[in-house]
Amino acid sequence: MSKSAGFMRALKCRECGREYPLEATHVCEFDFGPLEVAYNYDKIKKSMTKAVLAKRAPTMWRFRELLPVANEPTVGTHVGYTPLLKADRLAKWLGVREAWVKNDAVNYPTLSFKDRVVSVALSRSKELGFKTVACASTGNLANSVAANAASAGMDAIVFIPADLEEGKILNSLIYGVRVVGIRGHYDEVNRLCAEIAGKYGWAFVNVNMRPYYAEGSKSMAYEIAEQMGWRWPDWMIYPTGGGTGIVGMWKACAELEQLGWMSSSQKRPRMVSVQAEGCAPIVKAFKSGAQRAEPWTNAHTVADGLRVPRAVGDFLVLRAVRESGGTALTVSDADMIHAMREMGASEGISAAPEGGATLCALRELLANGTIQPDESVVLFNTGGALKYLELV
Ligand SMILES: *Cc1c(COP(=O)(O)O)cnc(C)c1O
Ligand SMILES: [Zn+2]
Repeated sequence: MSKSAGFMRALKCRECGREYPLEATHVCEFDFGPLEVAYNYDKIKKSMTKAVLAKRAPTMWRFRELLPVANEPTVGTHVGYTPLLKADRLAKWLGVREAWVKNDAVNYPTLSFKDRVVSVALSRSKELGFKTVACASTGNLANSVAANAASAGMDAIVFIPADLEEGKILNSLIYGVRVVGIRGHYDEVNRLCAEIAGKYGWAFVNVNMRPYYAEGSKSMAYEIAEQMGWRWPDWMIYPTGGGTGIVGMWKACAELEQLGWMSSSQKRPRMVSVQAEGCAPIVKAFKSGAQRAEPWTNAHTVADGLRVPRAVGDFLVLRAVRESGGTALTVSDADMIHAMREMGASEGISAAPEGGATLCALRELLANGTIQPDESVVLFNTGGALKYLELV
């Protein structure tokens, strides 16, 4: 490991708080709890002020002290700072005072939220001396690993289910990546990848590099806070698969208070987790009051990002949603596809089904009185329609 860890302090278990060195490792040896990156916030306070921030380039790396790299980032240096669009027509039509869309459909380079987490994971992988990076994915994650690795001259291997559609495979192959088809369920593919990561010494972005990878999602909340003039919306509605988005953004809220950039008298946003009817482990656990989610059997939805039957950080998602005073709900595939068209026609936004799902959720939460007409809401369009044209 390099001599200085930058602004990072250690990896820390989310269950028992034990600390570990800042290496490529992701679970606690005592209780198998997931590890997260802990920072030295006093040091960050000295280095990053709002005046310093104002001079930095508009990418997610303007918040680099709060991201887990020891040195300057080397992979995905253009990622992030996507537009936060004020969706006035949508707001008027739905009957809510303020609606915003955080539009990661135009994230560079692969047009989804995944570029944030992958560029962080690969920058850190490079620092730790890895030459080969890998992931298991059905779509956006594989695209992002392939493109970002190519741009950094790293070797990449992506593992996909053997029966994946041709279009989705081509979107990764275009970047010259090695693609390995696996016959088996998503869970089996993941277990295989965990074994391979140990055996060959590869950096698997969402396995042994997961603590670093997950931190990339915090950048969405930092950007929104800045883009809204250092205030929070009343609600954030996020399409939940593996849970990195909600967990990361909830952590970001606490960090901005710790740095004194948001006062603790400012109410944090209420977090809404949206899942697909055909794969809703978090929603089911939320409704039943459970602390952890049961793995979902026979997961099916057109929204690839939401097809995660067993989320590693399930209890963290549930905790964030509950602590924030938020809620969780499901949306049908037919409704999210319809909402892709509504997002396009009302605001000129190209939305993935995951983004469409957040619009459906807002409509339902207004109808049942959970969200009030005088409140403000941010919807997360985590990807665009381009990769899903067959649906519309
Ligand atoms: C991966 C993904 C998600 C969900 O990811 P989380 O891990 O829950 O943050 C949502 N939308 C899209 C388009 C994705 O690719
Ligand atoms: Zn532990």
